[in-house]
Amino acid sequence: MKKPRFQSPTGMHDILPELAPYFQKIHKTAENTAFFYNFGKIETPILEKAELFSRGIGIATDIVKKEMFVLKTKGGDELALRPEGTAPIVRAYIEHGMVNLPQPVKLWYFGPFFRHENPQAGRYRQFWQFGFEVLGEKSPVIDAQIIQIFYNILKSLRLKDIIVEINSIGDSQCRPYYKKLLVNYFKSREGSLCIDCRRRLRENPLRVLDCKEEKCRRVISQAPQMIDHLCQECHNHFKEVLEFLEEIQIPYVLNPYLVRGLDYYTKTVFEIVSQGESEKRTGSLAGGGRYDALGKILARKDIPAMGGAAGIERIVSLMKEKMIKVSQPYEIKVFLAQLGPLAKRKGLKLLEEFQKRKILIGESFGRDSLKAQMARAHKLGARYTLILGQKEALEGTIIVRDMASGKQDTIKLEKVVKEIEKRLKK
Ligand SMILES: [Zn+2]
Ligand SMILES: [Zn+2]
Repeated sequence: MKKPRFQSPTGMHDILPELAPYFQKIHKTAENTAFFYNFGKIETPILEKAELFSRGIGIATDIVKKEMFVLKTKGGDELALRPEGTAPIVRAYIEHGMVNLPQPVKLWYFGPFFRHENPQAGRYRQFWQFGFEVLGEKSPVIDAQIIQIFYNILKSLRLKDIIVEINSIGDSQCRPYYKKLLVNYFKSREGSLCIDCRRRLRENPLRVLDCKEEKCRRVISQAPQMIDHLCQECHNHFKEVLEFLEEIQIPYVLNPYLVRGLDYYTKTVFEIVSQGESEKRTGSLAGGGRYDALGKILARKDIPAMGGAAGIERIVSLMKEKMIKVSQPYEIKVFLAQLGPLAKRKGLKLLEEFQKRKILIGESFGRDSLKAQMARAHKLGARYTLILGQKEALEGTIIVRDMASGKQDTIKLEKVVKEIEKRLKK
């Protein structure tokens, strides 16, 4: 087949109707959870000042260096398509004075994000995420609760064999010392590291820890671990997070190499992964961490906060792989077939009556053949088809056909909504 001239941009995809029920199911599950835990929904603009991310996420991170879509407006502003959701939410929290609300402030979101990555399985340049953020609270119980929320959502989507990987990356009290230790260690073995890691060593040494190259893995496995160098406060915090997770029976493993890509994280970082083979291809399903330093970076304000985000395409791909079915969000039980101009007019009006009673009804007004309309009714799986012919339209009646038995009754048009309502209750 010849490719059409216009296609969706590289790494960006259409969400077609067959995929939409997955998105709707995930949205609904996240929404129910948000409601239960008292999170308010927030939608921030797709574009933000590029500086929000370069400052917040960190100049030396891959996201800011290589993956941001940046554009200049006619007024000369540099805007970026948002690569992640946390920095915009902290921006909104500060901008709208949410610091004056009772704390903590709990917010959730669902939407598209953009990163100019090399397209590969499970990675897109426009991808969807939902996230949960709790701002204004430093207690470790929040860390556990955020992890619990993501874990429960994935469980509700019937994903099995998922596990939480967790680590603490310390804070401004203990991380600088650890960084020094780490840099010294890697410097003494620089010859054994890949080119990327040699660069990371100068720019963002913690990132060396999650390099996937075989030769780097060998060096990393002997490297000093943050967890052995936490200050008392970070140590206690982490210990409490783990105790809470045990209390609520969330399976976790300590992963000393988990650092997450962003500069703003402090203390707890986590990812939720599927333990199956596919995990290696698709990466983590959800991840996040505490970001007590972000408020300082963006507005010199102390805003202890914790949050995470889940990758919707990755969840959908795993659900499909595991053959997890999602039902259509609606089910059409009644179909209206019409014949002739008068029937069409009356049919249009009848549809409105059904809508008022919140009964979904299928139609195919564009078609005039009864056969084609009946075929459509079958395809939709309608239990009843209402047939409005020229004769019925003139007489003010309508035929109700039971699709399973083939039995037909002619009833008064004004009684049909009530009659169908009654029959559907059976
Ligand atoms: Zn490497
Ligand atoms: Zn510390």
